[in-house]
Amino acid sequence: RPFRDRKPRWFKRPRPGGARYRALHARIEAEGLHTVCQEAACPNIGECWEHGTATFMILGDVCTRRCGFCNVKSGKPTHNDPLEPLKVARQVQRMGLRHAVVTSVDRDDLPDYGAGAFAAVIRAIRTLNPGCTVEVLTPDFRGQEMPLARVIAERPDVFNHNVETVPRLYPLARRGSDFARSCRVLLNAKLMGGERVKTKSGLMVGLGETREEVLEVLWLLREHAVEIVTIGQYLRPSRDHLPVVRYWHPEEFRELEREALAMGFSSVAAGPLVRSSYHAEQTLLAARAA
Ligand code: SF4
Ligand code: SF4
Repeated sequence: RPFRDRKPRWFKRPRPGGARYRALHARIEAEGLHTVCQEAACPNIGECWEHGTATFMILGDVCTRRCGFCNVKSGKPTHNDPLEPLKVARQVQRMGLRHAVVTSVDRDDLPDYGAGAFAAVIRAIRTLNPGCTVEVLTPDFRGQEMPLARVIAERPDVFNHNVETVPRLYPLARRGSDFARSCRVLLNAKLMGGERVKTKSGLMVGLGETREEVLEVLWLLREHAVEIVTIGQYLRPSRDHLPVVRYWHPEEFRELEREALAMGFSSVAAGPLVRSSYHAEQTLLAARAA
């Protein structure tokens, strides 16, 4: 849960409480299930669960990279659970989801960088939940094409990989990653996946980037054939993380959304509380309809 930084008034949200949310919550409590939505205390949980969308984390909770904005532990991962894809698929089934988002820590220690687990989880979700759409939010697989091809071969409905911030801030915020490499991953995913696989990326604002830099990133994403984009406000998880340089105003997000749509993205979600999987099913449907 983000520590108590003084936040602007627009971060106040009503407590979640819709019927579908309450039913899901009860089932999760009863069965001891885990979602990123709860573990990250995501403020969108009421809306997302009401729409039947939830996010799951695979491949453990220890990441081989250390990004200055991220609350995930960093170190040497030991997690290895061959049954994990099946377990996630069963959770999706028990929760009766319409859209499942699967993400992971970076696993630069594995020979396939975790791609095999993504492929297996897509297959398992599809087998147990024929009506459910699947979105994967993956690491960059160090830019290697074989692991990416393995994931795309399973035809996820959405291939999502976040660039997170503007290139100038990579050395500060995203050590071990490379903006240009991430763009190449996104373009390769589109080239391999064709029309059936929608490509998506996202970034946070508030780390000190300028509006011009954000627009430049959006252009670059379009140049790499990205179809869906999300833009949200960075919130500092703890005093050990990078400070928030600026809270962008909701009106500025609305402007970014207009600009992004004018650039040709088929679906855009921008707002202070937007996260990568916010309204994920609706953004997919909008991209399909475009
Ligand atoms: Fe879960 Fe993502 Fe929605 Fe947050 S934005 S509640 S993590 S699906
Ligand atoms: Fe967090 Fe992803 Fe960076 Fe790992 S690679 S520290 S999970 S943002």
